Amino acid sequence: MHSIIFLGTGPGVPAPGRGSSSSLLELASAKILVDAGEPCSLHLRDRGIRISDLDAVLITHGHSDHTAGLFMLLQSAWLESRQRPLPIYLPQELIEPLKAWLNAVYLPEKLLGFSLLLHPWTLGKSAKVASGVEVEVFATTHLDGLRQIIEPEAMHRFKTFGLIIHGNGHRVIYSSDLGAPQDLKCALSSRCDVLVCELAHFLPSALFSFLQGREIGTLVLNHLSPKLTGQEKELAIQVRRELPHVGRIFIPHDGESLEF
Ligand SMILES: [Zn+2]
Repeated sequence: MHSIIFLGTGPGVPAPGRGSSSSLLELASAKILVDAGEPCSLHLRDRGIRISDLDAVLITHGHSDHTAGLFMLLQSAWLESRQRPLPIYLPQELIEPLKAWLNAVYLPEKLLGFSLLLHPWTLGKSAKVASGVEVEVFATTHLDGLRQIIEPEAMHRFKTFGLIIHGNGHRVIYSSDLGAPQDLKCALSSRCDVLVCELAHFLPSALFSFLQGREIGTLVLNHLSPKLTGQEKELAIQVRRELPHVGRIFIPHDGESLEF
């Protein structure tokens, strides 16, 4: 049996009882942290999982609600005396800033006691992130609007990567943050066992109409907008009515897990 524990399910601002985006994927005997919103270290500890148990960390983009827990995670790994290398997969643009910030907060690699293996995501190339687990990435348009405002010429920056995760014959799609549901088009061109999709940047109706007829075993709605938070029951009724072909619907709170 494989699982995803939804450690943090909240939107981009603090929400009652919900941490920022972070999930623990247990697949093919590997433990993989997907995004590191705060307080992921606390949530892992509360579930009896040591940072040393993690086989890899996958970061989809630089927004703080997906990365702010990473430094506490690495400080915790140091204090736990982690020994084995920790692979972190992330956008290329974050690698040098991450190293600089680790130096700034007194966690240079020579202190950590383990190697940080920082791997940039590459479109079109799948990465073996842990034993038995491969990940392909797809680009989403989530940060395109911010690029226009902040630095229009910076085509090498403002990247967001959705994940297609393969392991033990399963295909799991993690949307990360999207510009629009259409960003999922290529990923959903073939069946997936689990689609974990955000619902903070567009209306549920836009997502549900895009998902019509697509082959999805379990649909997880996560990272709900502040407006939708607290409306989970109504949302579940709406999605069941509009997507009757989807096998299971799951709208997790922090700490809830999905087995597949
Ligand atoms: Zn974001």
